[in-house]
Amino acid sequence: MLPPETALWNFVEASVRDVFRAYNFQEIRTPIFESTELFARGVGEETDIVSKEMYTWEDRGRAESDKGQSLTLRPEATAGIVRAYIEHKLWDRGLNKLYCIGPMFRRERPQKGRYRQFYQIDAEVIGPASSGSDSPARDAELLEMLATLLDRLGIADWNLELNSVGTSADRVAFNEALRKALEPVKDVMCADCQRRALTNPLRVFDCKVPEDQPIIEMLPRITQFLGDDSRKHFDAVQEILTKVGVEFHINDRLVRGLDYYTRTAFEFTHGALGAQNAILGGGRYDGLSEALGGPPAPGIGFAIGEDRLVMSLKETAEGVLRKPDVYVAPMAGMNGEAARLARELRRHDLVVELGDDSFRLKKSFEAATKAGAEYILIVGENEVKADAFALKNLSTSEQVQVARGDLAGKIRGQ
Ligand code: AMP
Repeated sequence: MLPPETALWNFVEASVRDVFRAYNFQEIRTPIFESTELFARGVGEETDIVSKEMYTWEDRGRAESDKGQSLTLRPEATAGIVRAYIEHKLWDRGLNKLYCIGPMFRRERPQKGRYRQFYQIDAEVIGPASSGSDSPARDAELLEMLATLLDRLGIADWNLELNSVGTSADRVAFNEALRKALEPVKDVMCADCQRRALTNPLRVFDCKVPEDQPIIEMLPRITQFLGDDSRKHFDAVQEILTKVGVEFHINDRLVRGLDYYTRTAFEFTHGALGAQNAILGGGRYDGLSEALGGPPAPGIGFAIGEDRLVMSLKETAEGVLRKPDVYVAPMAGMNGEAARLARELRRHDLVVELGDDSFRLKKSFEAATKAGAEYILIVGENEVKADAFALKNLSTSEQVQVARGDLAGKIRGQ
């Protein structure tokens, strides 16, 4: 990642921190690598991530007993956060809204918008049910926060796709119905679907193979199998979203295939991204803490693909990139005076590029133009004596003499 694009990344992260703070989220930083078992259990053995995409190695311990510990570069953030929640009893500290920003690693076939090291912005609401963490109000609040963030970033044409995958009890009947429906057709489907039909039929809905789509269209949907509680929860989420004015579309093909994923599942997509059009995904995971050996702790979270978010921003990014306000050009022997002046201007929060007194004036002008500076400020012996300096606007070529004390204001256009 190179400048000037890194300025966009900083803009995104600063906006994220600002927006999340308004919802009382606090930052957590989890390790880049953890034990393989954590991810195997937290993400799920039969997911693509765990079965073929993780960067895993045997650690070489110092003691004989350390040998062979299997470690993995984190492929996502939720497992590490829930691990920390359990390990540090975060419920005792009232910490139930957490976010994490950083790199994740998956061995995938690289293509536009799909990398092996990519960045996620992840947030989780987790806590004992008594903290209200299983309430539909949390789901709606999280979704509304995301809508606010995307609007704030100037991403106008996002689309929120929403579904409920019910509870694991709801899914028993659904899985049965799916298996039955897949039985006569699975042999003509892609190899992945044939495997999924046996191991985890829900995953068939992830299939992107065009020839399989007409078959998938005919399959039963989870919405037909939701129990009363799940249905009520889902209705309540929708009701609040409507009330606060966040648009959404129900997508009954949106699934998350693991047992501890429950109820709300969602994705935000953005048209400009092409095939990899999901900017973020998330959902409820009321059983995850228990799956990792912790107490019951309903939770809901999401992961934003930061690379893709930045990509969808590029068109609107001009205003974010800050060029130098002024290029300070010292004449012969004036490096010290120029440094003093630059120091004063930087204290006024101006972006200052400082030249060198070995440069001839022509070279200073070229350097100032190349840096994209708005002004060039000449620091010569006479200027220092008069305590007033030649300030030239590089786009209009207007040049004025400005007293030292007025420089910052003038450069800022006041
Ligand atoms: P997931 O953790 O798979 O639900 O992904 C959440 C978000 O992370 C997706 O919507 C993508 O925006 C992003 N993402 C996932 N995998 C990659 C990748 N290999 N490269 C870039 N972004 C990714």
